[in-house]
Amino acid sequence: MPPCLAPFRAADHVLQSLHDPPAEWSEEQQLAIVEFFRITHEYRERAKVESTPVYIRGCDKQKLIRVFGRIFFCATLQDVEYRPRTTLLSKFGNYGQTWNSEETGNVLIEIDTSIPLHSTSNLPCVLSLLLHECTHAYFFSECCYSLCGSERCAEIYHASCGALTHGPAWQILAHTVERKADFVLGMHFDLRRGDAAAQQTREEEDLGDPLLDCLFGDAAKHRIRG
Ligand SMILES: [Zn+2]
Ligand SMILES: [Zn+2]
Repeated sequence: MPPCLAPFRAADHVLQSLHDPPAEWSEEQQLAIVEFFRITHEYRERAKVESTPVYIRGCDKQKLIRVFGRIFFCATLQDVEYRPRTTLLSKFGNYGQTWNSEETGNVLIEIDTSIPLHSTSNLPCVLSLLLHECTHAYFFSECCYSLCGSERCAEIYHASCGALTHGPAWQILAHTVERKADFVLGMHFDLRRGDAAAQQTREEEDLGDPLLDCLFGDAAKHRIRG
């Protein structure tokens, strides 16, 4: 169980670690940036010779999650698991989700690798989706998210994250990470912050609606997810 750390405080740790100019970032962060370029260069080279969309299926997302953790999230996310899905989310317009898996005891990131989105997407699009989920994974790894059962934590969590995790603490973290990723990784990241905020508002209104269970199936049991 992660500690009872308030989400705003967790976000603040990241903001501080990214505050200095990249030239002054830690050796860990700088080596991870080099690793990122090595991985993405390999994918691009393979994409030239393979007809299948290697950006999607060939891209080692587990490795990229660890690299993102080292660059942007205070060297966390090293135990986060990745699992591809093919049917779960795309019909509802969501292509990724993250939660604390009871099954393994680790934070789990799932990305829907089904078509049509991924047959036409490019590397920045997939990486943006992955980085979006990493922002959720960071909170899940560092904050109890009220899973401790404390009422106080539940209040703090709700105020800073909202019912579906795209609240103000997430927005601050995502905004900073997105801007820094553009700058140091040399491609345009879009963490879909606006869409996430709109979805949050919509789904908060829907909470308590029995239709939610029909719509989200067993995912509805994991109300705390992003
Ligand atoms: Zn707690
Ligand atoms: Zn999200």
